[in-house]
Amino acid sequence: MERFGLDSKDRLRASALLLILLFQVTERVAGASSLYPLVVSTWPFLEAVERAWSAANNGYSAVDSVVEGCSACEELRCDGTVGPGGSPDENGETTIDAMVMDGVTMEVGAVAAMRYIKDGIKAARLVMRHTGHTLLVGEKASAFSISMGLPGPTDLSSPESIEKWNKWKENNCQPNFWKNVVPANSCGPYHSNGLLLAAETTCLGDGPRRAVELRSNHFGLHSHDTISMAVIDKFGHIAVGTSTNGATFKIPGRVGDGPIAGSSAYVDSDIGACGATGDGDIMMRFLPCYQVVESMRLGMMPKDAAKDAISRIARKFPDFVGAIFAVNKNGTHAGACHGWTFQYSVRSPEMHSAKVFTVLP
Ligand code: ASP
Repeated sequence: MERFGLDSKDRLRASALLLILLFQVTERVAGASSLYPLVVSTWPFLEAVERAWSAANNGYSAVDSVVEGCSACEELRCDGTVGPGGSPDENGETTIDAMVMDGVTMEVGAVAAMRYIKDGIKAARLVMRHTGHTLLVGEKASAFSISMGLPGPTDLSSPESIEKWNKWKENNCQPNFWKNVVPANSCGPYHSNGLLLAAETTCLGDGPRRAVELRSNHFGLHSHDTISMAVIDKFGHIAVGTSTNGATFKIPGRVGDGPIAGSSAYVDSDIGACGATGDGDIMMRFLPCYQVVESMRLGMMPKDAAKDAISRIARKFPDFVGAIFAVNKNGTHAGACHGWTFQYSVRSPEMHSAKVFTVLP
């Protein structure tokens, strides 16, 4: 020290400074570990939440923990609408939409309408980690996944999905997602009924212009579901992930909100995260999770941000069903829903096991 011209007073000051710094760092780490890791997920997918939490608790990053959690749901085929063997489309085929987002780097990887591969969320992570792209779709997403080492091709149908599909066909392919078509009560092929053209050429006056929509709302409780999960790891980094088979009896090629960043999930580690489930065809028009995170950035609490995002959709589509959870970087969480009762699950260090929260519409 003498060599650098420090006298004993300087040395005392330097040691005091060092002690203060050490104290601050220790306090920050202790503070972080009492809040985190934290896992929030749509629905009572408790095993998936526990899997993500123990991964994060064992030092996995937020991204890898979210992948562990969503993979658990794919293996367990949560609600029969995640992983292989769920929600057949009009051709009786099961496909997977999945996404992962890193709230530190804002990188996203996603796959959509992916066939023959059961590991949706792992495929999404491969897109994020090993390509400069954000979203790969269909056959090419499957080929990419296999080339990167995921098992496949695998038949994603199950006896349950085939039985469901057969019953639907016996019921003249009702309900379905077509609108403004003839013949209405059959399995097609369909043609435009001309109604839309008539409406577009009709003067609608000053009243609100509404879509000419004859689609019945069959986005019920059991025809679809998404695992949408947020993990805050031990270092306070946040990631989100989603995986779903999308909507049952969808028109082949349909992609829902699951792989759309800002819609089914969104995260910024400086602010917090959001996850969504419900009628993705409608919800993705509003990017509700982007809305939630940006509202929290402007100072809203998670509860108000979630409610606000849901009510923006409900104002335009009063019959839609959907739900959202929001969690800020301090671990405060809340949910909001419309058209159905929503449940989401949470696991934090102060809980002995994952806990389910129920939100009324
Ligand atoms: N949002 C999903 C979709 O539309 C389904 C769901 O979460 O219920 O594909």
